[in-house]
Amino acid sequence: MGVDIFTLLLANATILTVTAFAFFAAWQGQRQEVYWQSWIVANLTFTAALFFLMMPPSAQNNLAIALANGLLVFGFGFRWRAARQFAGRSSPLLPIFAPTLFTAVLFALPSVFDFASVYISVNVVLAAAAGFEFWRDRQDALPSRYGLVLAYGLIAVSFASRAGQGLMLGSGLTSYLPQDTMLQIHLLVALLHTTGSGAFALSIAYGRRAVALREVALRDPLTGLYNRRAFEMRLQGHLANGSRDFAVVIFDIDHFKEVNDRYGHAAGDAALCVCAETIARTLRPVDFVARIGGEEFAAILPEISARRALEVTDHVRRVVGAQDINRHGHRFGITLSGGVVHSAAAARDMDSLMQAADTGLYRAKNRGRNRIEPIAA
Ligand code: GH3
Ligand code: MG
Ligand code: MG
Repeated sequence: MGVDIFTLLLANATILTVTAFAFFAAWQGQRQEVYWQSWIVANLTFTAALFFLMMPPSAQNNLAIALANGLLVFGFGFRWRAARQFAGRSSPLLPIFAPTLFTAVLFALPSVFDFASVYISVNVVLAAAAGFEFWRDRQDALPSRYGLVLAYGLIAVSFASRAGQGLMLGSGLTSYLPQDTMLQIHLLVALLHTTGSGAFALSIAYGRRAVALREVALRDPLTGLYNRRAFEMRLQGHLANGSRDFAVVIFDIDHFKEVNDRYGHAAGDAALCVCAETIARTLRPVDFVARIGGEEFAAILPEISARRALEVTDHVRRVVGAQDINRHGHRFGITLSGGVVHSAAAARDMDSLMQAADTGLYRAKNRGRNRIEPIAA
């Protein structure tokens, strides 16, 4: 093969260093995310190990070899630690330091027995363990996970075949150096691993952050329900899917201004939370509930008849009305008015549906409050 081992080692070291800087930059914006530190430590450790391996053979004594291989194990240990931290799992240091020390000692006392396969097997285990950490959380549907699993899987397989080579050749392994084709292949795979694990680590971290920010943008901070934007997106989704049998309801707390005036704003907030929780708990898990305004809530009830939608929303009204709110030294209750419209009873666009539900709500208020008014076709 045309690429020499020194060049491959240098290429790996360069990518690892550049990626460590990229991790550092990412960490500056997310100081609370400790996995960046572990990724940085791992990459810099790998780089240091590679520099020991790049030294001319005349300068390679037992100590340098022991250090290089100990550092490689340490680096994989920290990659595993980063993966655990990324997943929010415990990340003890013992499974990193013990094999590191073990490897370094084995290499410092080379005459004891042939240990290359043992050491390489340690790396197989650590790399596979890191890959497994990314694999086990795949239900969060971040596609970069598969890139990381592949990157760690590749290097583990490569280490495993190197261990196999070591087992077959025994101490003869070193006689192939520096013209060792298996080593060249291994370092090429390592190049794939360093680029892949770096790129996908950045991509998965940003992917997860984007999902979290999106979730924040769609939630109401007081009640934890979805907000108006989320509600409109969900309703548009229903319309775009061509769903036929769903209902839209708007609830509004009656005389809520008086609750604030009489018991204070904090008690009013508590009442909003109780109301939100009661609506969400009383409706089905498939129903989508949102707080769309100050004391206004809305819900989408999928796959439901007009008659059943009215029964269900009236049930919600009764449950909320029966609720005792006992907060901030006051004991009081609230009532709800609501308008409900079935998708078959209005034009199939968001504004018409919302206007129809609002007309129902307006009617409920005019007819004495604490009631639900349906809008028929
Ligand atoms: P109606 O029966 O006609 O709906 O009367 P209402 O008093 O409920 O309606 P109005 O629109 O006059 O007042 C709504 C009140 O809701 C006014 C506002 O102070 C209160 N409100 C809106 N958002 C919040 C909030 O986040 N917390 C608290 N405590 N009050 C809120
Ligand atoms: Mg209102
Ligand atoms: Mg109101």
